[in-house]
Amino acid sequence: MFNNFVYQNPVRILFGKGQIAQLDRQIPKDAKILLTYGGGSIFKNGVYEQVKEALSGRNVIEFGGIEANPTYETLMKAVELAKKENIDFLLAVGGGSVLDGTKFIAAAIPYEGDDAWQLVTGKARIREATPIGAVLTLPATGSEMNFFAVISRKETHEKKGMGHPLLYPVFSVLDPETTYSLPKQQIANGIADAFTHVMEQYMTYPVNAEIQDRMAESIIQTLIAVAPKTLENPTDYEARANFMWAATVALNGFIGVGVPQDWATHDIGHELTASHGIDHARTLAVVLPHLLKLKKKDKRGKLIQYAKRVWNLSGTDDELVEGAIQKTIDFYESLDIPTKASAYGVGQETIDKIVSRFKEREIVLGERADITPEVVGEILEMSIK
Ligand code: NAP
Ligand code: FE
Repeated sequence: MFNNFVYQNPVRILFGKGQIAQLDRQIPKDAKILLTYGGGSIFKNGVYEQVKEALSGRNVIEFGGIEANPTYETLMKAVELAKKENIDFLLAVGGGSVLDGTKFIAAAIPYEGDDAWQLVTGKARIREATPIGAVLTLPATGSEMNFFAVISRKETHEKKGMGHPLLYPVFSVLDPETTYSLPKQQIANGIADAFTHVMEQYMTYPVNAEIQDRMAESIIQTLIAVAPKTLENPTDYEARANFMWAATVALNGFIGVGVPQDWATHDIGHELTASHGIDHARTLAVVLPHLLKLKKKDKRGKLIQYAKRVWNLSGTDDELVEGAIQKTIDFYESLDIPTKASAYGVGQETIDKIVSRFKEREIVLGERADITPEVVGEILEMSIK
């Protein structure tokens, strides 16, 4: 049955060429702003200049150095600065890591407890957050229009997701031109991440939510169609615009309402990033195909539908199931993204560690909550064979 749901998404999107110029109107006049950014890409592609020009005469201080897979250790320095400077608005300029990191900062500024990591683990409740705006420069995560953040902790090699409605950005600026400077590998990663986000919300079991299925399929088809174009020609505006918006709608909550969701691929992938430093999207490509192989009975109906509607395959049901999985592998590989964890030197030792971490936390994953730590081990073993 089409599941009940409550849906509200308050994020104002400013989409298109030149939209950074609108920033001034989006942020309260008297706000003291902390501009957060990553390793410096914004200085090389002109985004920083555009932001500063839009905010000229405004009270802005800066915090840079938020790394890919943002760490608690770095973010706490920003929290300290923000508290000292009485910051009342955060402006994140960058990719998903800068946006996620800034969401954590937003929650940690008003937090009065002595261990802000508890905001990530869920042991402490988020009751307040500093408002956030964003200028997105990397289509991939959907962070610009959702309330999730994924935060890492160096000390303990952990990577964990957190989320709260107070962490929705107030607005996000999406100018496809800001993505022209992205290296090919980051575009490929972005496409793979967005593709997998849709799969996590679609490749489960059918609940007769036809509208949700068809929206998910159209996002996947759009990603498949624009991938070669946008990889080949970084300044093809239409291709970038389609990719950018596809990545946003892939994870702004809309296609996920009313349907079961999986997310096991992401949860397992986070462990691979935490233990081996593999890019987020690349971890997904080494998990999903093997998860599909292992769970092909449970996901049979959807695999058949996906084979027919997304990949235009025909044949017996068994052939469609196998074809769907193979097409998924081929798609990641077409982006030059390997689908075997062995490509990154992951071995049995890492797998054992990951399995025991899931056991310690007593975690079960998947839309049926039947992916036990043992099953996680099986999936990862398939990916190193
Ligand atoms: P990212 O980690 O934000 O950025 C990757 C790299 O791309 C950085 O080195 C960055 O450089 C560079 N970059 C960004 N924009 C650029 C541009 N326009 N031109 C040139 N280089 C640019 O990548 P991401 O894939 O967006 O984010 C990954 C993180 O998001 C992971 O931690 C993942 O777990 C998380 N995630 C979050 C969600 C969510 O819902 N919130 C969902 C999925 C994944 P600089 O640092 O120099 O800017
Ligand atoms: Fe992701």
